Amino acid sequence: MRQKQLAIIGSTGSIGVQTLDIISEYPDLFRASVLVGGSNVDLLERQAVTYKPDKVVIADEKCYSRLHDTLSPLGIEVEAGEKAVAEAAISVPGIDTAVVATVGYSGLEPTLKAIEHNKQIALANKETLVVAGELVTKRLAKSRSTIMPIDSEHSAIYQSLVGESHDSIRRLLITASGGPFRNMTLEQMEHVTVKDALAHPNWSMGAKITIDSATMLNKAFEIIEARWLFDVTADKISAVVHPQSIVHSMVEFVDGSIKAQLGLPDMHLPIRYALGCAHRLPTQRPGLTIADYSRLEFFEPDFERFPLLRLAYHSLEKGGNVACVINAANEIAVAAFLKGAIRFLDIRRIIEKSLETMPFIDSPTYEDYVNTNAETRKYALSLIN
Ligand code: NDP
Ligand code: MG
Repeated sequence: MRQKQLAIIGSTGSIGVQTLDIISEYPDLFRASVLVGGSNVDLLERQAVTYKPDKVVIADEKCYSRLHDTLSPLGIEVEAGEKAVAEAAISVPGIDTAVVATVGYSGLEPTLKAIEHNKQIALANKETLVVAGELVTKRLAKSRSTIMPIDSEHSAIYQSLVGESHDSIRRLLITASGGPFRNMTLEQMEHVTVKDALAHPNWSMGAKITIDSATMLNKAFEIIEARWLFDVTADKISAVVHPQSIVHSMVEFVDGSIKAQLGLPDMHLPIRYALGCAHRLPTQRPGLTIADYSRLEFFEPDFERFPLLRLAYHSLEKGGNVACVINAANEIAVAAFLKGAIRFLDIRRIIEKSLETMPFIDSPTYEDYVNTNAETRKYALSLIN
């Protein structure tokens, strides 16, 4: 395999840092040609000094001059701002793969640009497919671009589907740890703190997805993500609570057989598989010792205590801009929760109120998604203020 040139969009985040670990593990196979951060200028600078990319982009324009002053003398081009983020994977010649690892709505535009320019995409940012899955898959069908999922559940499904035909799929079974509040009553959830919600039992991740895991909206998002990645309708996708997070997801086939992928709760594995484009790259990193797990449990999810899970089915049934509204309201609500401005269960209330209020658009254009996102954010903020 020749060395692939990567643009890592969100290199300073949890997935971004682990993607750089994989580059360090296989320096002959991968090079970080472009690094993109949001506002963590210290880390981005250190990454640039270590990985020597051709270009560094930072979303926050206030950080430009500092980055420029330190990185220009090293021959590294520096850009800042939203447009530069969106075009990061196409503005340097020879980029093979865009690793889309920003958080939230900000993943959509870089993904669409990568599709337009026939780049391979390693997609961590599930919100892209939640917000505009239909538009993204339509554009993908007209492009030479392909998407390799990084999300562990979707990587597991992808791996389980190798060698199988699409019409032999009976059901996708997406596993969920259940998050830190798996055994709590709604009454108890009224009083949880930010610290409680950030204490995920199995996975170490960025703050936003950790809160989404606690509300289980993350699992709803993953059902939507699976619908678009694997072209399987919502009635054939279920969530299964699996507290150990060892079975990363499963596919049930028409003959009754179920295939699963197992591993430690460690994102290096799905990132490695996505960057290797489904080739298995040998690693020295510790793997799963199966005998350490005498008990792997599976339960039906509780839709009464985790009602946001239902939103996957609701939004896929209604279609249009519904999931875009849910995502935007959630981003604002989660940010407010993390700042201590609202309580945990208010996240759900803000999403539900936004869904009631925002106008439904049946067949949204790209501009409709942009407007829905902006208007819903404004509305959700007004609820908080
Ligand atoms: P983090 O919050 O750790 O990192 C987010 C990254 O995006 C940071 O590099 C941040 O920059 C950057 N960023 C934020 N806003 C912008 C913006 N507007 N423009 C450019 N860059 C921006 O998130 P995670 O790594 O946890 O998650 C990333 C994505 O991957 C999410 O969509 C998540 O759902 C998904 N995912 C994550 C998993 C995990 O284990 N972490 C597992 C499966 C999926 P900075 O910090 O410099 O501001
Ligand atoms: Mg996941």
